[in-house]
Order: sequence, then C-alpha cells, then structure tokens
Amino acid sequence: MKIYPKLILDALSKVRYPGTGKDLVSAGMVDDDIRIEGNRVSLSLLFDKPNDPFAKSVVKAAETAIITYAGAEVEIKGNIKAVSRRPERPEPEKFLPEVKHIIAVSSGKGGVGKSTIAANLAVALAGLGYRVGLLDADIFGPSQPKMFCLEESRPLMVEVGGRELIEPVENYGVKLLSMGFFVNREDAILWRGAMAGNALKQLIAEADWGELDYFLIDLPPGTSDIHLTMVQTLPVTGAVVVTTPQEVALADARKGISMFRSDKINVPILGLIENMAWFTPAELPQNKYYLFGKDGGKRLTEELGVPLLGQIPIVQSICEGGDHGVPVALNPDTITGQAFRTLAVEVVSGIRKREEELPPTERVKILKKH
Ligand code: ADP
Repeated sequence: MKIYPKLILDALSKVRYPGTGKDLVSAGMVDDDIRIEGNRVSLSLLFDKPNDPFAKSVVKAAETAIITYAGAEVEIKGNIKAVSRRPERPEPEKFLPEVKHIIAVSSGKGGVGKSTIAANLAVALAGLGYRVGLLDADIFGPSQPKMFCLEESRPLMVEVGGRELIEPVENYGVKLLSMGFFVNREDAILWRGAMAGNALKQLIAEADWGELDYFLIDLPPGTSDIHLTMVQTLPVTGAVVVTTPQEVALADARKGISMFRSDKINVPILGLIENMAWFTPAELPQNKYYLFGKDGGKRLTEELGVPLLGQIPIVQSICEGGDHGVPVALNPDTITGQAFRTLAVEVVSGIRKREEELPPTERVKILKKH
C-alpha cells in the first residue's frame, strides 16, 4: 500500500494526549515535516515541555496507531521523535547545585535603583536568617563592591575537593562576587557580549558559593545577551523587575517583562518593585510627594497580571547607604529598613506560593534540593 501523509495524520488523530485529552492532530502536536521514503515514515511530535512525562507513552501509542492504519510493513519504530516546543532549561544539578532559589534582579532602564534594591534585598534576606549570595552581573557598571563596602577587597582562591575555586567575599551575611573585583570599568566597556557572558559563567561555575537559600543576580539594565546567557546557564527561579513610577521607566519595564516571558527566555516573573515611589523628607515622615507620578508601577502590575512586591520611597538615607557601603536594610528598626524587610518577606512568600502551584513532578525536584 502506498503511504500518504494524510494516512499518517488519520492514524495520529486516533491517539490522545493524556495531558489535555485532545487527539495529537487537533492539539497541533504533529510537526508538519512528515517524511515518507518508501515504507519508512519519520516524524516529530511536539510537546510543550522538555521531559514531558507522557512523551514516551504517546510515541508508543503513535507507532502502534500508524502500524494499525498503514500496515505492518511500515517502518516507524524509532522514527518518531519527541521534540520540545520550549527551549531546554538547564538542569538544576549542573550549576550551583547547592543553591535553592535563584532570583534575577532586573530593570528596563538604568538608574531606577536596581542595584540598590538588589543589595538591600540581599541584606534583608540575610537578616531573616537565610544564606544569601549575590552576583553582580551588571558588568559594565558594577556597583555592588561599593554598596557592600568591599571596594578594596579581592576574592582569593581556595581548594575545594581538589579544584581551585574563587572564594566569594562576604559582608553583612552576603557572599558577593562582581566583575568589579577583576576589571576596571573602562576596560569592561570594551568587552564584547560573549566575553562578558563567559566571564560571568566562570564566576558562577568556578566559585565556591556553597549552600545557599537565595542567589541573587544583579543583571545589567535593559535586555542583552547577558540576560540570555544567564538564563540559559542557570535554572533561574524567577525575575523581579525594578522600575520607578515614571512613564519612560514603565515602558522599559514592560519590555523587560515581555523579554522574560518570551519563549526564548521563559523565566517566571516573581513581581515588580516600584522604587522611588514617593519622596518623604526626614523631618516630615508622614508626608509623601509623588515626584515621578503616583502608583505607576502598581498600575503596571494590574495591567500585566504580575504581583507588586513592594513600593520603596526615595529617602536620602537609601542613597547615602549605597554611597557609604552601609545598606539601610541592615537596620530593620528604621522605616527604610522595615520597607526592605517587608520586601524580602514578600519575595520569599511569592516563591513559596509559586512552588506550591507547580505540578507534582516539578515539586519533587525542588523538594529533593531542600
Ligand atoms: P541602577 O542599578 O538601576 O542603575 P542604582 O541602584 O545605582 O540604579 O541607583 C541609582 C542612584 O539612585 C544611586 O545613587 C542610588 O543611591 C539612588 N537610589 C536608588 N534608590 C533610591 C531610593 N529609594 N531613595 C534614594 N536614592 C535612591
């Protein structure tokens, strides 16, 4: 019997995908590229996720259906490939095996306080008793060494299990590595994207980060190759996006969120942080002046359906804390310190909630890590 693609499709329309109950053809799971050479038929079935738990049994059922429809002489065994529609995310075991959660801190544009938020969030998480690491991946403007009062520090090499590794420097309970420790800013600007990406990978894979509850990455502003490298290298738990309430910042934050949501990157958004939400003078702590507009970030979260993790006011002490290398989050008794503690609690509970909503198979992977 001569074999036609229509015959194959008829056979595949008799096979159901258990995840949705739909047949493979109407679920759009059969790739257009069905190849027929004599009796040999090969094709690909498309699955949403890599390692789809039903893939093997669906492939088996498809083989049987084709043989039943087109005759026993059809060579189909081993010729059906299960292909993922989504890019393969790295296996958590590969990099940072002892890290439970990886959080990317990003912003659509520079100067909105991303690094300030990353530093204070890291310190606040450490203040809550978590083990925290921070990678300053803002390679062209690394500011974390200054914010942690570690500008003069240099990471040392240590031997761990027969390997020479970079030992992150530590202050305020946070382990830190930054390209700022290795190159000066003027040289880094000349680096091409790939060089920067490779250097960062080294700071992840060849450093002794040890066991951590939270690993924060202070990403460069905007969208770049570095973002792609980081999410392709690491199993990022989720991204937080920092913005100010100003229209131009919101437009860029929107772009940043859609980058994380794109198929290529595909990282969950943990939420938005509205920084510089209002100005409060030290002498009039009850007064709020909305210099960049009111609730712009909050409205964006409603529009895009992402959580609002916190609103941080403009306060002189936050800026000074950064300049002097003493983050305000170190002192939870102040209003600003309290704001960062609340933010840290929100981030922790947001991650916990997300994990509870995951399908059981993914949950088991996370439980194994804990
Ligand atoms: P980014 O990382 O987005 O470029 P930075 O964190 O370097 O931004 O912040 C830019 C400037 O704004 C810094 O001088 C910082 O101290 C200041 N800044 C950030 N957030 C606040 C805030 N909430 N209140 C006061 N100053 C702030």
